[in-house]
Amino acid sequence: MESKKLGRIEDYNKVLPVNELYRCVQSEGSRFGRPTIAIRVTGCTHRCWFGDGGWCDSWYSSIHPEKGKFTFNDIIKMYDENPHITEMMLTGGAPTMQPALVNELTHFANERNIIITIETEGSHYVKTDYPLGLVSLSPKFNNSIPRVGIKTPGGKTVDQKFVDQHNKYRLNKEAIRSMIDYHNDYHYKPVWDGTSENLEEIENLRIELGIPKNKTYIMPAGDSRDELIKMYPLVFELCAEHGYNMSGRDHIIAYDTKRAV
Ligand code: SF4
Repeated sequence: MESKKLGRIEDYNKVLPVNELYRCVQSEGSRFGRPTIAIRVTGCTHRCWFGDGGWCDSWYSSIHPEKGKFTFNDIIKMYDENPHITEMMLTGGAPTMQPALVNELTHFANERNIIITIETEGSHYVKTDYPLGLVSLSPKFNNSIPRVGIKTPGGKTVDQKFVDQHNKYRLNKEAIRSMIDYHNDYHYKPVWDGTSENLEEIENLRIELGIPKNKTYIMPAGDSRDELIKMYPLVFELCAEHGYNMSGRDHIIAYDTKRAV
């Protein structure tokens, strides 16, 4: 599959579509527990709404995207100030919408021996000059489709155009396949809402893409501490019974709904 067109960032003082830049600890998936720098890219192809689970927890980077605030030099400064950190979490929104930025980051990471994890819903394939360290795939299933007539977090009424936008790049299997094949490593990190319908979709995609269970991390749905605590035992039992890995979301357990943690 053809990648999105590659480019480079020429001006390191230009404000990028990055609305959060902070130090934290990776609390999801196969690199759990490692100190990292999170770079949140604003803008997303999707418009996720999870019914009782509410809107996308980073709706300020997707449904109502904030403007970017940080430059490439800000990213460099963050690593200069934290020389002990050798990880990067590129999250969003949808970082694959910004191929030049992702590519530039691979050059920086290569110079500094930093491992990049890119979080992606799998909308686009981005082939970078240096492969990414880890592709963290969280595709969105039927339970993410917004319903016509409901209000967005910013008060807009959902119409069919909004729903079509959400579905346009959803479950782009060719892009997901190419991301898995090109980059250094990956894991499949679907969010499970506790229903058998959702589990069936998760499992069908896993089998179709040939992803082994030991590269599958099931994550509980919920974007607050209370919701997660209810879901954790279900996910523990599911993983123990079926042989998936369990991924918590411990930054939410630790900080609840606080941003930039
Ligand atoms: S793909 Fe992720 S960032 Fe985009 S709307 Fe859905 S949950 Fe939010």
